[in-house]
Amino acid sequence: MKATPSLSLLAVVTLAAGALTVDAAAPAQAATCNGYVGLTFDDGPSNSTPALLNALTQNGLRATMFNQGQHAAAYPARVKAQVNAGMWVGNHSYTHPHLTQQSQATIDSEISRTQQAVAAAGGGTPKLFRPPYGETNSTVRAIAAKYGLTEIIWNVDSQDWNGASTEAIVAAAGRLTHGQVILMHDWSANSLAAIPRIAQGLAARGLCAGMISPQTGRAVAPTAAVKPGAA
Ligand SMILES: [Zn+2]
Repeated sequence: MKATPSLSLLAVVTLAAGALTVDAAAPAQAATCNGYVGLTFDDGPSNSTPALLNALTQNGLRATMFNQGQHAAAYPARVKAQVNAGMWVGNHSYTHPHLTQQSQATIDSEISRTQQAVAAAGGGTPKLFRPPYGETNSTVRAIAAKYGLTEIIWNVDSQDWNGASTEAIVAAAGRLTHGQVILMHDWSANSLAAIPRIAQGLAARGLCAGMISPQTGRAVAPTAAVKPGAA
Protein backbone atom coordinates (compact mmCIF):
# COMPACT_ATOMS: atom_id res chain seq x y z
CA MET A 1 0.00 0.00 0.00
CA LYS A 2 2.98 2.26 0.42
CA ALA A 3 3.34 2.33 -3.36
CA THR A 4 -0.22 3.54 -3.95
CA PRO A 5 -0.98 6.46 -1.65
CA SER A 6 -2.59 8.36 -4.53
CA LEU A 7 -5.09 5.54 -5.06
CA SER A 8 -6.07 5.67 -1.41
CA LEU A 9 -6.51 9.39 -1.62
CA LEU A 10 -8.56 9.04 -4.76
CA ALA A 11 -10.85 6.63 -2.94
CA VAL A 12 -11.37 9.13 -0.16
CA VAL A 13 -12.09 11.97 -2.54
CA THR A 14 -14.52 9.83 -4.49
CA LEU A 15 -16.27 8.87 -1.30
CA ALA A 16 -16.45 12.48 -0.16
CA ALA A 17 -17.90 13.56 -3.47
CA GLY A 18 -20.61 10.96 -3.19
CA ALA A 19 -21.88 12.05 0.22
CA LEU A 20 -23.28 15.40 1.19
CA THR A 21 -21.65 15.87 4.54
CA VAL A 22 -18.44 13.93 4.44
CA ASP A 23 -15.20 15.82 4.69
CA ALA A 24 -12.31 13.40 4.32
CA ALA A 25 -10.59 14.93 7.33
CA ALA A 26 -13.68 15.31 9.49
CA PRO A 27 -14.63 13.01 12.34
CA ALA A 28 -16.75 10.07 11.34
CA GLN A 29 -19.75 11.42 13.21
CA ALA A 30 -20.01 14.23 10.67
CA ALA A 31 -21.52 11.69 8.29
CA THR A 32 -25.02 10.29 8.67
CA CYS A 33 -24.70 7.50 11.17
CA ASN A 34 -27.36 4.85 11.50
CA GLY A 35 -25.10 2.86 13.76
CA TYR A 36 -21.60 2.59 15.17
CA VAL A 37 -18.86 0.01 15.07
CA GLY A 38 -15.69 -0.23 17.11
CA LEU A 39 -12.44 -0.45 15.14
CA THR A 40 -9.60 -1.66 17.35
CA PHE A 41 -5.86 -1.93 16.75
CA ASP A 42 -3.76 -3.92 19.19
CA ASP A 43 -0.08 -4.08 20.15
CA GLY A 44 1.03 -0.50 19.44
CA PRO A 45 2.37 2.01 19.57
CA SER A 46 5.16 1.20 17.14
CA ASN A 47 6.94 2.47 14.08
CA SER A 48 3.75 1.64 12.21
CA THR A 49 1.59 3.96 14.28
CA PRO A 50 2.12 7.27 12.41
CA ALA A 51 1.04 5.78 9.07
CA LEU A 52 -1.94 4.10 10.72
CA LEU A 53 -3.05 7.36 12.31
CA ASN A 54 -2.69 9.16 8.99
CA ALA A 55 -4.80 6.57 7.21
CA LEU A 56 -7.51 6.66 9.84
CA THR A 57 -7.77 10.42 10.03
CA GLN A 58 -7.65 10.85 6.26
CA ASN A 59 -10.57 8.46 5.98
CA GLY A 60 -12.60 10.05 8.75
CA LEU A 61 -12.24 7.08 11.08
CA ARG A 62 -11.58 6.91 14.79
CA ALA A 63 -10.43 3.76 16.55
CA THR A 64 -9.49 2.30 19.89
CA MET A 65 -5.82 1.51 20.26
CA PHE A 66 -5.10 -1.28 22.72
CA ASN A 67 -1.52 -0.47 23.58
CA GLN A 68 1.06 -2.65 25.19
CA GLY A 69 2.50 -0.88 28.21
CA GLN A 70 6.07 -1.64 27.21
CA HIS A 71 5.46 0.05 23.88
CA ALA A 72 3.76 3.04 25.46
CA ALA A 73 6.83 3.44 27.66
CA ALA A 74 9.15 3.12 24.67
CA TYR A 75 7.16 5.42 22.37
CA PRO A 76 5.33 7.91 24.59
CA ALA A 77 5.09 10.50 21.82
CA ARG A 78 3.15 8.01 19.71
CA VAL A 79 0.63 7.49 22.47
CA LYS A 80 0.15 11.24 22.53
CA ALA A 81 -0.17 11.20 18.75
CA GLN A 82 -2.94 8.61 19.03
CA VAL A 83 -4.87 10.91 21.35
CA ASN A 84 -4.21 13.96 19.20
CA ALA A 85 -5.55 12.06 16.19
CA GLY A 86 -8.83 11.45 18.02
CA MET A 87 -8.24 7.85 18.97
CA TRP A 88 -9.14 6.17 22.24
CA VAL A 89 -6.43 4.40 24.15
CA GLY A 90 -6.90 1.10 25.95
CA ASN A 91 -4.77 -1.30 27.99
CA HIS A 92 -3.40 -4.49 26.35
CA SER A 93 -1.07 -5.61 29.19
CA TYR A 94 2.56 -4.61 29.58
CA THR A 95 4.46 -7.49 27.95
CA HIS A 96 1.66 -9.44 26.21
CA PRO A 97 1.83 -12.69 28.19
CA HIS A 98 -0.77 -15.43 28.32
CA LEU A 99 -2.42 -13.89 31.36
CA THR A 100 -4.46 -16.92 32.33
CA GLN A 101 -1.19 -18.75 32.96
CA GLN A 102 0.20 -16.04 35.26
CA SER A 103 0.02 -15.48 39.01
CA GLN A 104 -2.40 -12.91 40.37
CA ALA A 105 0.56 -10.69 41.24
CA THR A 106 1.87 -10.83 37.69
CA ILE A 107 -1.54 -10.13 36.19
CA ASP A 108 -1.89 -7.17 38.52
CA SER A 109 1.52 -5.85 37.55
CA GLU A 110 0.87 -6.29 33.82
CA ILE A 111 -2.29 -4.26 34.06
CA SER A 112 -1.22 -1.60 36.54
CA ARG A 113 2.09 -0.83 34.87
CA THR A 114 0.29 -0.34 31.57
CA GLN A 115 -2.17 2.06 33.17
CA GLN A 116 0.80 4.04 34.45
CA ALA A 117 2.74 3.95 31.19
CA VAL A 118 -0.22 5.12 29.11
CA ALA A 119 -1.06 7.89 31.55
CA ALA A 120 2.57 9.01 31.76
CA ALA A 121 2.65 9.23 27.97
CA GLY A 122 -0.38 11.50 27.90
CA GLY A 123 -2.88 8.85 26.88
CA GLY A 124 -5.16 9.35 29.85
CA THR A 125 -6.19 6.58 32.19
CA PRO A 126 -7.56 3.72 30.11
CA LYS A 127 -11.05 2.41 30.87
CA LEU A 128 -10.92 -0.47 28.38
CA PHE A 129 -8.80 -3.60 28.64
CA ARG A 130 -8.13 -6.27 26.06
CA PRO A 131 -6.28 -9.35 27.32
CA PRO A 132 -3.59 -10.67 24.96
CA TYR A 133 -4.93 -13.36 22.62
CA GLY A 134 -8.39 -12.68 24.03
CA GLU A 135 -7.52 -15.13 26.80
CA THR A 136 -9.29 -14.37 30.03
CA ASN A 137 -10.94 -15.78 33.10
CA SER A 138 -12.65 -14.51 36.22
CA THR A 139 -9.32 -13.66 37.89
CA VAL A 140 -8.15 -11.57 34.95
CA ARG A 141 -11.49 -9.78 34.78
CA ALA A 142 -11.53 -9.09 38.52
CA ILE A 143 -8.06 -7.56 38.48
CA ALA A 144 -8.94 -5.46 35.45
CA ALA A 145 -12.07 -4.27 37.23
CA LYS A 146 -9.96 -3.27 40.22
CA TYR A 147 -8.28 -0.72 37.94
CA GLY A 148 -11.58 0.52 36.57
CA LEU A 149 -11.17 -1.40 33.34
CA THR A 150 -13.87 -3.07 31.29
CA GLU A 151 -12.73 -6.10 29.35
CA ILE A 152 -13.30 -5.87 25.60
CA ILE A 153 -12.81 -8.88 23.35
CA TRP A 154 -14.27 -8.66 19.82
CA ASN A 155 -17.21 -9.73 17.68
CA VAL A 156 -15.28 -10.00 14.43
CA ASP A 157 -11.66 -11.15 14.07
CA SER A 158 -10.05 -9.66 10.98
CA GLN A 159 -7.43 -12.43 11.09
CA ASP A 160 -4.80 -9.84 10.17
CA TRP A 161 -2.51 -11.53 12.72
CA ASN A 162 -2.95 -14.76 10.78
CA GLY A 163 -1.95 -13.49 7.36
CA ALA A 164 -5.36 -12.38 6.14
CA SER A 165 -5.24 -10.49 2.85
CA THR A 166 -6.37 -6.90 2.57
CA GLU A 167 -9.40 -8.19 0.70
CA ALA A 168 -10.25 -10.56 3.57
CA ILE A 169 -9.83 -7.80 6.14
CA VAL A 170 -12.16 -5.51 4.18
CA ALA A 171 -14.66 -8.36 3.99
CA ALA A 172 -14.40 -8.96 7.74
CA ALA A 173 -15.19 -5.31 8.44
CA GLY A 174 -18.14 -5.70 6.09
CA ARG A 175 -19.67 -8.21 8.50
CA LEU A 176 -19.79 -5.73 11.39
CA THR A 177 -23.21 -4.72 12.59
CA HIS A 178 -24.22 -1.89 14.90
CA GLY A 179 -22.45 -2.01 18.23
CA GLN A 180 -19.89 -4.59 17.21
CA VAL A 181 -16.12 -4.54 17.59
CA ILE A 182 -13.45 -5.77 15.16
CA LEU A 183 -9.93 -6.92 16.01
CA MET A 184 -7.03 -5.55 13.98
CA HIS A 185 -3.38 -4.80 14.74
CA ASP A 186 -1.21 -1.70 14.77
CA TRP A 187 1.56 -3.52 12.94
CA SER A 188 -0.50 -5.09 10.13
CA ALA A 189 0.36 -3.69 6.71
CA ASN A 190 -2.69 -5.41 5.24
CA SER A 191 -4.99 -3.75 7.77
CA LEU A 192 -3.38 -0.41 7.03
CA ALA A 193 -4.00 -0.97 3.33
CA ALA A 194 -7.60 -1.97 4.04
CA ILE A 195 -8.54 1.27 5.79
CA PRO A 196 -9.80 3.30 2.79
CA ARG A 197 -12.06 0.44 1.70
CA ILE A 198 -13.21 -0.23 5.25
CA ALA A 199 -14.22 3.42 5.43
CA GLN A 200 -16.06 3.20 2.12
CA GLY A 201 -17.84 0.05 3.15
CA LEU A 202 -19.00 1.43 6.47
CA ALA A 203 -20.18 4.67 4.90
CA ALA A 204 -22.13 2.76 2.27
CA ARG A 205 -23.96 0.96 5.06
CA GLY A 206 -24.58 4.09 7.13
CA LEU A 207 -22.22 2.93 9.84
CA CYS A 208 -19.70 5.15 11.56
CA ALA A 209 -16.61 4.40 13.62
CA GLY A 210 -17.51 4.94 17.24
CA MET A 211 -16.05 4.66 20.69
CA ILE A 212 -16.43 1.55 22.80
CA SER A 213 -18.60 2.17 25.83
CA PRO A 214 -16.95 1.13 29.11
CA GLN A 215 -20.47 0.57 30.42
CA THR A 216 -21.69 -1.83 27.76
CA GLY A 217 -18.58 -2.90 25.86
CA ARG A 218 -20.38 -1.98 22.65
CA ALA A 219 -19.61 0.62 20.03
CA VAL A 220 -21.51 3.86 20.53
CA ALA A 221 -21.47 7.43 19.28
CA PRO A 222 -18.37 9.29 20.41
CA THR A 223 -19.02 11.39 23.47
CA ALA A 224 -18.03 14.92 22.62
CA ALA A 225 -17.60 15.83 26.26
CA VAL A 226 -15.06 13.09 26.76
CA LYS A 227 -11.57 13.98 25.66
CA PRO A 228 -10.39 11.50 23.04
CA GLY A 229 -8.19 8.94 24.72
CA ALA A 230 -9.83 9.27 28.09
CA ALA A 231 -11.95 6.24 27.35
ZN1 LIG B 1 -1.99 -8.37 21.15
